[in-house]
Amino acid sequence: MPSPQQSSVPKVRISPRGATRLKSGHVWVYRSDVLNSDDIPPGSLVAVSDQRGKFLGTALYSSSSQIAIRLISHQPVKDFPALIRERIANAIAYRKDLVRDTDAYRVIFSEADLLPGLIVDCYNDILSVQILTQAMDANPVRESVISSLTEHLHPASIVERVEPRVRDLESLPPRSSGLLQGDKTATTFTMNAVQFHFEALEGQKTGAFLDQRENYAAAAAYAKGDALDVFCYQGAFALHLAPRCSQVTGVDSSRPALEVAEQNAALNHREIEWIEANAFDLLKDYSSSSHLYDTIVLDPPAFAKSSRDLDSALRGYKELNLRALKMLRPGGILVTCSCSYHVSQTSFLEMLADAAVDAHRTVRVIEVRGQAKDHPVLLNVPETAYLKCVIASVSN
Ligand code: SAH
Repeated sequence: MPSPQQSSVPKVRISPRGATRLKSGHVWVYRSDVLNSDDIPPGSLVAVSDQRGKFLGTALYSSSSQIAIRLISHQPVKDFPALIRERIANAIAYRKDLVRDTDAYRVIFSEADLLPGLIVDCYNDILSVQILTQAMDANPVRESVISSLTEHLHPASIVERVEPRVRDLESLPPRSSGLLQGDKTATTFTMNAVQFHFEALEGQKTGAFLDQRENYAAAAAYAKGDALDVFCYQGAFALHLAPRCSQVTGVDSSRPALEVAEQNAALNHREIEWIEANAFDLLKDYSSSSHLYDTIVLDPPAFAKSSRDLDSALRGYKELNLRALKMLRPGGILVTCSCSYHVSQTSFLEMLADAAVDAHRTVRVIEVRGQAKDHPVLLNVPETAYLKCVIASVSN
């Protein structure tokens, strides 16, 4: 039963299906499983109970998202800002134990750090914050987040990156990206001894693809000869491959990303060829004109944004992988990634197996990898595991 201290917190009852989901260790309950939602203030802390009134835990409520309930504790919560401070301290301690060879890493990863709707990335001395839910957007919550981060990490500045689409889905008023504290918006960061420029208020996501950090180092360990980094963005794979390869080319359709890639190459004293092109067209051309490589990286954007896109996403992945397999010299290395949660590791490997058959290649899987450890996977919340990175040796 709720404790007396929590009697002021609105109560939400959920259906047996919602209750079963929470009892299985998941933290989300969908709107269709919420039995009473009248008069619950957007973004409030709520006491969740089953249909019979048995207390199941404390959650953050969204009046707008399909995910109406995000559980934050199995206990009553008396002081939410204090809980946030404790969770932030825990998230930082977890990274201190696990994150190596970088001053850029994800400090807080939403549900995976029991802080649903909050993402914080560290780039050397700048922190980049994303707020994705009504509850995390409340002013007292923002204040606890900023003061805890400052206390533990002493950043030169903190910026907020706003995704207008997310605020819209959460029925939050529009807000622009900008500085929350300090005035520094540019820095350099170093991962695996490779240096990168960082502009806090430009670029995709919060700046770099930190989830691939350990995969860059893994790919570099096998890379050789002529290398092609397809969907290279600001050149992270290419720059990691360069010390091991005789020649490296990066391909992306975004000119601004390639401009930063070129600056990153200069920062690291590397010569890399950057090509602005549609990767599908370029691979089609190159595979039919027998361009050959010893190492190819494929790291496309998420093709499956929802489960409805699964078939077309798998066709897209297969086309890319088929062409890359044909373009590898015997003994060549394929590094192939998918960041679509909806494409499971099993379907991704099946897609690759089909592509290998069609390309008449023998593929030996060297490593099947996921996201870097600072993007933790919560075992009972499968949605927290999304990145696949397969490293394979390809022969005729
Ligand atoms: N490998 C990069 C991340 C890639 S993100 C890294 O580790 O940093 C996906 C990239 O694909 C983006 O840079 C985007 O500009 C690019 N992209 C999207 N569609 C494309 C297409 N059809 N052809 C080429 N590049 C594309």
